[in-house]
Amino acid sequence: MNQPLPPTPSPKKGGGERAGSLAPAASAGASSVLSPSLLRGGVGEGFYDAVVIGAGPAGAVAARELARRGCSVLLVDKSHFPRPKVCGCCVNGAAGESLRRLGLSHVLANGVQLRDVRIGAGRHAASVKLPGGVSLSREAFDAALVCEAVKCGVQLREGVTAKLGEPNAGTREVFVGQESVRAKVVVVASGLSGNDAMPEAGSRIGAGVVVAADLVPPFFGPGTIFMATGRGGYVGLVRVEDGRLDVAAAFDVAFVKAQGGLGLAAEAVLGEVGWPRVLGLAELPWKGTPALTRRAKALAGERWFAIGDAAGYVEPFTGEGMAWAIASAATIAPIAARAVQHWDDAHRRAWESAHHRVIGQRQRVCWVVSRVLRSPTLTTAVVRTLSALPILSRPVVRALNRSSASRSHGTPV
Ligand SMILES: Cc1cc2nc3c(=O)[nH]c(=O)nc-3n(C[C@H](O)[C@H](O)[C@H](O)COP(=O)(O)OP(=O)(O)OC[C@H]3O[C@@H](n4cnc5c(N)ncnc54)[C@H](O)[C@@H]3O)c2cc1C
Repeated sequence: MNQPLPPTPSPKKGGGERAGSLAPAASAGASSVLSPSLLRGGVGEGFYDAVVIGAGPAGAVAARELARRGCSVLLVDKSHFPRPKVCGCCVNGAAGESLRRLGLSHVLANGVQLRDVRIGAGRHAASVKLPGGVSLSREAFDAALVCEAVKCGVQLREGVTAKLGEPNAGTREVFVGQESVRAKVVVVASGLSGNDAMPEAGSRIGAGVVVAADLVPPFFGPGTIFMATGRGGYVGLVRVEDGRLDVAAAFDVAFVKAQGGLGLAAEAVLGEVGWPRVLGLAELPWKGTPALTRRAKALAGERWFAIGDAAGYVEPFTGEGMAWAIASAATIAPIAARAVQHWDDAHRRAWESAHHRVIGQRQRVCWVVSRVLRSPTLTTAVVRTLSALPILSRPVVRALNRSSASRSHGTPV
């Protein structure tokens, strides 16, 4: 363990059998993007240096980084990849920079380059330049990251739920479906519902759906994020790589109830800003999330660490969740690799302080933005100001794109 990092494997030419074929496979709804030879093996002898629970961006990147440090890694996800996920699907400049530093820029190759964000409040709208990001469906993005982890030697189990067990004789037990396995370290990356995080009182819930390309009004052109803000929440719309329109929202629970459902709530918010209607939007199969803003009871314990959304989350208006997830994965890897060699409570403290430094400060900024959005008057005032003086948005956009990449990768290995 902790041997020098091997060079990052480069993607195979011609798109590679796996990574390059992700977008079509995702659209076709294939059961797995991985070749059968990569799926053999199961839990094996039941003992690993590291088990990673959850294969979203946080888990897949952490598993890969641990494998690159010489650890034997089992990555478990309750879903099969490619799988959709309620998300705005915008990978911002900071996330792109983190991926570049990890040698993973190519996973974004099929993404749509983003130019700007159009924010609507009441009948006012402002366009703000937002370079550096791409939109990419979560089916394609997450499956590509999982493939990269497997290429580095990570063993993958799909379609199985995992649960953290108790510490036992220098290891931690993990229940993987019906089986019990042991690991020197467990990384909990199971998203919003993971790690028993406590929702903030009055937190909004998330919602999302994807609209087929032929139903999308031309108004919603590629390269622009459309953000409609309203009384009961906000709705973001963006074209992804195959022309479909990803729709992701955050709503007050009472608003959803009053409107009669997630789809009707989205139509109400879009109606407030007067943008073209997406016909049949309310009837599509909307998916909801648990309360969004939540704080983890603990970020780590004996032989386990929580990362990504499982370590706490704030409403997604600024679209940084994947940047935080990737930054937390890159930051935890050296700490967890050291913990594999020898457990010491100092590793827990190291992660708590790194999380505070790399993610916590950014989440506080996002929390303040989410509070401003609760006031329609304030939101309209901000949108009117930005409309008149778009230059005012520049420092915010620069900060968003800079984000935590440098801080996370500055952590000593
Ligand atoms: C409405 C909305 C819009 C958003 N828009 C954006 C955006 O535009 N840009 C952005 O960067 N972020 C956005 N986010 C945030 C982003 O989606 C998350 O921050 C990001 O997905 C976190 O990654 P993660 O790996 O921590 O968790 P996830 O991506 O949630 O992955 C967790 C994985 O764990 C698996 N899992 C859960 N429990 C178990 C278990 N017990 N056993 C095994 N597997 C398990 C799940 O199947 C899942 O694959 C948005 C979020 C919402 C709700």
